Amino acid sequence: MSLKTVEDIAVRGKKVLVRCDFNVPMDDDGNITNDNRIVGALPTIKYLVGEGAKVILCSHMGRPKGEFNMKYSLAPVAKRLSDYLGQTVKMAEDVVGESAKALTATMADGEVVLLENVRFHAEETKNVPEFSKQLADLAEIFVNDAFGTAHRAHSSTAGVADYLPAVAGYLIQKEIEIMGGALDNAERPFVAILGGAKVKDKIGVINNLLNKVDTIIIGGGMAYTFSKALGGSIGDSLVDEERLDYAREVMALAKEKGVNMMIPTDNVVADDFSNDANQKVCNTLEIPDGWQGLDIGPETTKAFSDAIKNAKTVIWNGPMGVFEFENFAKGTIAIAEAVAEADAVTIIGGGDSAAAVTNLGFADKMTHISTGGGASLEFLEGIELPGVACLEKK
Ligand code: AMP
Repeated sequence: MSLKTVEDIAVRGKKVLVRCDFNVPMDDDGNITNDNRIVGALPTIKYLVGEGAKVILCSHMGRPKGEFNMKYSLAPVAKRLSDYLGQTVKMAEDVVGESAKALTATMADGEVVLLENVRFHAEETKNVPEFSKQLADLAEIFVNDAFGTAHRAHSSTAGVADYLPAVAGYLIQKEIEIMGGALDNAERPFVAILGGAKVKDKIGVINNLLNKVDTIIIGGGMAYTFSKALGGSIGDSLVDEERLDYAREVMALAKEKGVNMMIPTDNVVADDFSNDANQKVCNTLEIPDGWQGLDIGPETTKAFSDAIKNAKTVIWNGPMGVFEFENFAKGTIAIAEAVAEADAVTIIGGGDSAAAVTNLGFADKMTHISTGGGASLEFLEGIELPGVACLEKK
């Protein structure tokens, strides 16, 4: 799928509404503690400014529940953006009210205005057409550059496209090109690594990837449901009793399709869910009662790493263990290292695995770290994202 982008539409002198993801973490005093998302939005904004568009930015921030709340104001973002752009970004006091209308009515080419938090209106998340129309009335072109919310059909992510020509910003274009490219045209061997706590959250991804990959690696808390389904004893490890049949079926299906499905053979188990618990390594199918698996073991780490190192395409979503506990992070770190070292297109689905890879210092070594947790999971499930489906195709 090839999306029309900001470069495929004439923007000079036009009012362009850009949906960004400025949902940045802030401390209690309203200071931005990590501005990665603001930096990520700069290429699209700078392009539009450089082309002489009148740039109207919008975003959500937190969950203000449809009411004005200064705690969730985007004003600190306007300040930070002004610093990065070297020009004043004017802050509207509302989203579609008098202030927004007045500021956007009198813009010069290349000027930038930031609207207030779109979630100050309950209509935003309900995708109410009248609200989408009010947003659209401020502009002449819509650009979606917020991949993190592209799986939501909200007014500012999708609804507004009913009223304006709609194209992709650079961030969304990159996400779709790299992840879509891997799913449709992967260089092989293609290895998917799935981890994290819950089987339930990954079923859609497993089902879709089974038709695409050569190897599927299952680690993290979700793996114990698979070991139990194989008849193993998993002690007090995380398990989803309702999905034992699913696990059996999917393992059989993988065999039928010739997909190598790898699950752990040994684990680091603990006598308590804590960093300081006693720990030992044991066979995955023989975890004693009173012990729970919190990480993959050394034999598993080696087998997984070997498969990853030979891959030409790797997609990773979800940690291999409770990596937040330093004493149970070894497996996740080793897998991050293996992915970083692979001579392959490497894609990290957002959320925890993106945080792990970034915190461990491997970010530069990956081809792409997705900016969307939920959105990248849905994309890997093969679901069409409303915030992408509404954009014009080439
Ligand atoms: P998810 O959001 O599904 O990707 O899950 C991420 C969470 O799974 C992290 O907070 C991990 O601590 C947790 N997790 C990973 N492995 C295990 C495990 N063996 N037991 C319990 N929780 C786990």
